[in-house]
Parts: sequence; C-alpha cells; structure tokens
Amino acid sequence: MKFSEMSYTRPDLEDLKNRMSTLTASLRAAEDYQQAREVFLEKDQLNRHVETLSMLVSIRHSIDTRDEFYSAEQDFWNAAMPELEEFVQEWTLALLENPFRDAFEEEFGNLMFVNAEIALKTFLPTEEFITAMKEENDVSNAYEKLLASAAIPFEGGVYTLSQLTPFKSDPDDERRLTAWKAEGQWYKDNQDKLDEFYDRLVHLRDRLGRMLGYDGFTQLGYYRMGRNCYSKEDVEKFRSAVIKYVVPVADQVFRRQADRLGKNYPMSYADNCLEFRSGNPRPDGSPDEILAAAMDFYRALSPETEVFFRTMLEGELMNVLSTEGKQAGGYCTGIPDYEVPFIFANFNGTQGDVEVVTHEAGHAFASWMNRTRIPLEYVWPSMEACEVHSMSMEFFAEPWSERFFGRDARKFLYSHLSGALTFLPYGTMVDHFQHIVYEKPVLTPKQRHTVWKELSGIYLPWMKLDGEIPFYADGEAWQRQHHIYSSPFYYIDYCLAQTVALQFWKMIGEDRENAWRHYMAYTQQGGSRTFTDLLKHAGLQSPFEEDCLRSVCEKATAFLDAFDLSGIQ
Ligand SMILES: [Zn+2]
Repeated sequence: MKFSEMSYTRPDLEDLKNRMSTLTASLRAAEDYQQAREVFLEKDQLNRHVETLSMLVSIRHSIDTRDEFYSAEQDFWNAAMPELEEFVQEWTLALLENPFRDAFEEEFGNLMFVNAEIALKTFLPTEEFITAMKEENDVSNAYEKLLASAAIPFEGGVYTLSQLTPFKSDPDDERRLTAWKAEGQWYKDNQDKLDEFYDRLVHLRDRLGRMLGYDGFTQLGYYRMGRNCYSKEDVEKFRSAVIKYVVPVADQVFRRQADRLGKNYPMSYADNCLEFRSGNPRPDGSPDEILAAAMDFYRALSPETEVFFRTMLEGELMNVLSTEGKQAGGYCTGIPDYEVPFIFANFNGTQGDVEVVTHEAGHAFASWMNRTRIPLEYVWPSMEACEVHSMSMEFFAEPWSERFFGRDARKFLYSHLSGALTFLPYGTMVDHFQHIVYEKPVLTPKQRHTVWKELSGIYLPWMKLDGEIPFYADGEAWQRQHHIYSSPFYYIDYCLAQTVALQFWKMIGEDRENAWRHYMAYTQQGGSRTFTDLLKHAGLQSPFEEDCLRSVCEKATAFLDAFDLSGIQ
C-alpha cells in the first residue's frame, strides 16, 4: 500500500481511555498465563494502532505544515498524549505486579520489565515535581525557539542558522570566516539568554533528581535515557580510551588538513570546517539519481535490503525533497499497522542527501526487519543501539561512493572515515562537560565556559581558542549544541554507536561477507535485548572494552597514512 492510501480518522479519546482501563483490569483479573497473555497481545495491537494514527498525523503535518486538517489533528494528539499517560502508567504497574511475570519473561524476555522499572524511577506524582518538569520543558523550548528565530545578517541578506551552514564550509577563506563571524556574533548578542536558560535548566534538573532521592541530576539523567546496561564508570573508561587512542589519530588528521589548506596548526573553527582546498565532498546527481544509486546498492547488498528498499520506493515511504510548507530537518519512523518504516528529509545538495539513503535508511531497514516483533517496544532498541544500524550502514555503502559522489568519491572516502574518528573526541567532550556541570550545579555560567575551555585543551588540541571570534575564544561553543540543553546525556550514544560502526568498517575491510553476517545478526534482534547484549549476541566487541578503540584506531591510522590524496586539493 502507498503512503497516500493509508487512511486516518480521529479516534474517540474517551473510548480509547476506556479500552485501556478495561485491558488493565482484565490483566489484573487474569486467572492464568494464557488469559494474561491474550490481554497483553490485545494491548499490543491497540498500541500499534494508536502509534499508527498519531504517526500518520505527525508525518503528514511535517510534510505540509500549512495543511489545516492535519494541523488540527496534530493539536489533538499533542493534547491527547499527556492525557493517555496516566492510563499507560496504570497498565505498566499492572504488568510489573503481574503474578505471571516469570512466564512473560520466559516468552518475551525480561527487558520490558527492566525498562518499565527504570521508567518508574524518573517520575514522582507530586505537584512540585510536575511543576518543575513543566518548567524544564518550557525553558528548553525557549532555547529551541530562540535558535530557530535567529535572523543573521550576511552578505546583504538575512539567514537562519541552518541557512547559514553551507557558507560555513565555503572554500573561499574570506567568505567562510565572515559566515563564522556573523554566526558567532549572533550567539554573542544572545549570550545573556543562553546563559540564563542553561543555568535554570541545570538547577531545575538538579532539584528533580534530589526530589527523587538521588544525589543530583546525573542518576536521573541516566534513567531518563533508559540506561540499562552500563554505568557512569563505564562511560569514564570509554572517555579515557578516546583520549588515549582517538585524540592522537584525530590530531594527525587535522595536522594534515592544516598542511593541505596552507593554514597554521592549531586551526580556527572556520578553517577546521574546510577539509579540502577545493571544498568538501558533494554528491553528484539529482535526487532521483541518488535514489536510483541507493536502490542498486541495496539490491547488491542482500536479498533483505533489496525487498526493503523497493518497498520504500514503491510505497512512497521516503519524502525527501524540500517543498514549500515542509518542516526542516529529517527523521525516520515506523507505521506499525502497515508494517513499514517512513523517512522524512530535505535534500539540499550536500553530503547529507546521501546520508538520507545510507544513514536514515539504515534505521529504516532495522525497523523493517523487526516490523512484526511483539511487543511494539521491542522493534527499536535504545538510542545508542539504533545508531549502530545507521552509522554502520554508511560504511557498507562506501563501495558505492563513486555513484553517489562522482569525482568527489575519493574525497568522500577519506572524509567519511576521518570524520567518524574526529567526531569521537568532540562527542565525548560534550558528554564529559555535562557530567561536570551536573556534578557541580553551583558553577556560574562563566565558570562553565572555563570548564569547556579546559576540556577543549584535552579533547580538541587542534582547535585554536584565541581566534578572531569572541564566542569561540571565550569557551562558549557548547551553546550551539542542542542536546546539551534539550536532551541531557544523549550525546555519548552517538559516540558509542560510532565506535561499533568503526568496528564494522574494520571488519568490512577484512571480510565484507562476514561483516554483513554480523550486521544482520545484530539487526535481527531488534530491541529485544540491551545494547551490550545485542553486541554480544552478534559477536561484536563492546565499546567499553579498551581493546575495541585501540584496534580500530590502529587500523584506521594505517589506512589514513596510506591514503593517496595526491591530485586532490
Ligand atoms: Zn541516526
């Protein structure tokens, strides 16, 4: 079925609440496992249906925000979801207290119970707690709104932050620096607000954590991220391995880059952003050609990926062109009743367009492989585990670089691997910064900037902080990172996933077929296990083992040293 043929009608909210209450009561009344199991399956069907309806609305609204029907339906769901939360909680409690829990665990695994218990640890049904949580939400929305409202003067025009992005990697030194200065000035002009928003968020989150009986926010932050298989101490070990093994490799990458560009080392932020004198790699071909190349790639990769990608194309399940009224950004989601994923994107002629059909489609493929999995929450694993699907798929697609990037293919191959490595120190630093901030909530905004500057010396020694842009020179660059404001402790997930993806890169170089077998073994498990268990069952190393980054970096160093960049400017 095509996306346009999927039907939507607004459900009756009171009826929905009644059905949920009835199911909860039936689960509590079940006399044996068979009865309880039937109720559980019926509830899962209902979840799939509710998810389908709200998802159809959210997708159609994001495709055309001017559409009045779906705009009103979006408002309906925005108000309905918090109202349903109470009924979801009651069901969760009934499941946790169920006398047949052992039998459930035997059939469906214990992860749904583990996760439900963690979710209960993030909430307190008191007025004080709910008020503070709402305020937290308001402040992080205010931050997002401020950034979205940016109107930055540049070359006689006015730009949003995302519109300015392409100029920030312009090969023309003068133009690129001007773009960076214009952006930096906008942040500097809004310094007071950016400092105030974060200061409020830190104190609110610290209070929320203490209300729950924790020693500040960090524990709550981990629970909110659903961390069920590693601790703060594991992350600390990972951090040390990044500093020990990755920072030196990344440093070499940037020293070479400075040489290529004819710049001094350490580099300014503006120069760091330009990888090649002739410009960063750009895709070659129209959107249709990119989609056709992707179809060829997935056909060659495996029978499963072939069926998957054909379904995406034939079902109109990829909305990728930038059209009027469309929301910015991109995402991948699922429509459970129809057992299909959906990809939303805005092609803009950059490398990001290819990532839609490699990275986002990696997410989509994983959900496609698990489309009938029960319960619904086992379709996707936790965030870091999901990013393994996508980031690793990017490496499987590398042999198709020429189709995607034409004469920029070699530039892309070098940049893809080096970029995956150089991201790790930055991403780990973003996480480390947040640990310090929440450990010492009393720090003033100014002291937080100093912390960022100090960390920068450890994780990003190639960055010059005494540049021409006060925003960067003063250690305020972290204020650009949405996650620090809106999704605390999320960022390390990308680093953990990238480390596993690099493990795939290494395996692909050694034996592509074998690497694909491991990828399928990992992906076929959906979200039925914790991140580290998924890895173990697929014969992959955990990023928390020091040897993982060590061996990846060894191989990557040899590869980058030998990479022939002659003739590439
Ligand atoms: Zn992703």
